[in-house]
Amino acid sequence: MAGYKRILLKLSGEALAGEKKTGFDEATCIAVAKQVKEIVDRGTEVAIVIGGGNFWRGRTSETIDRYKADQIGILATVMNCIYVSDIFRYVGMQTSIYAPFAISDMAEVFSKDRAIDDLSVGRVVFLAGGTGHPYFTTDSGTALRAIELECDIIMMAKAIDGVYSADPKLDPEAVKYITISLNEVIEKNLKVIDTTATALCLENKMPILIFSLNEEDSIINNASGVCSGTVVTA
Ligand code: UDP
Repeated sequence: MAGYKRILLKLSGEALAGEKKTGFDEATCIAVAKQVKEIVDRGTEVAIVIGGGNFWRGRTSETIDRYKADQIGILATVMNCIYVSDIFRYVGMQTSIYAPFAISDMAEVFSKDRAIDDLSVGRVVFLAGGTGHPYFTTDSGTALRAIELECDIIMMAKAIDGVYSADPKLDPEAVKYITISLNEVIEKNLKVIDTTATALCLENKMPILIFSLNEEDSIINNASGVCSGTVVTA
């Protein structure tokens, strides 16, 4: 079965929270970890970015300064990586955590060479802290790190199983794309990833696979080349 050699898996913060919508749902995280273990055991190199929405988003507060609010969001992504990395270790994987800034021994400062060395020996590399800058999101961090680490593809696990012509919850005529180009995504104003991340992927020819985390074995299947979502070509 054809599969990807090196992927960047993006998980939203909410995906980790399960039904609770906030914090962590341990069973959900363990289930994700077991799937990732299977693909790592088969030889796929896996880097992971996790959002922060299960704790905090910059736009959560309309009272405090946006810069500070975004810093809290950045720290939320670090907490998520520390937790999920340790769940991965619990199921038997080796992991490392990198951040764009020094944060004591909670994570190492990102280095392309060290991260690639880790990937090549089967360690799962967690990329915490997004871009490290306010006014960005983890979508931008995902695009940046996937390009820097020369990943084959960004695999974005979502609550929805692909890219649709319209919101399928609102429009019964909405059709799912099997493949679509990033240029069409922009032309049709479809919300896939934010505009900064879109520009980075377009310029650096980084494809994105959007798939549902809620389907059984979806990480395993999609990483193995059995696409159940939408491939956005660049
Ligand atoms: N964030 C940031 N810069 C980054 C990554 C994240 O400022 O490079 C902050 C921002 O406040 C964001 C929050 O961290 O709202 C959580 O990140 P995520 O990408 O999950 O946010 P969302 O897209 O859901 O707002």
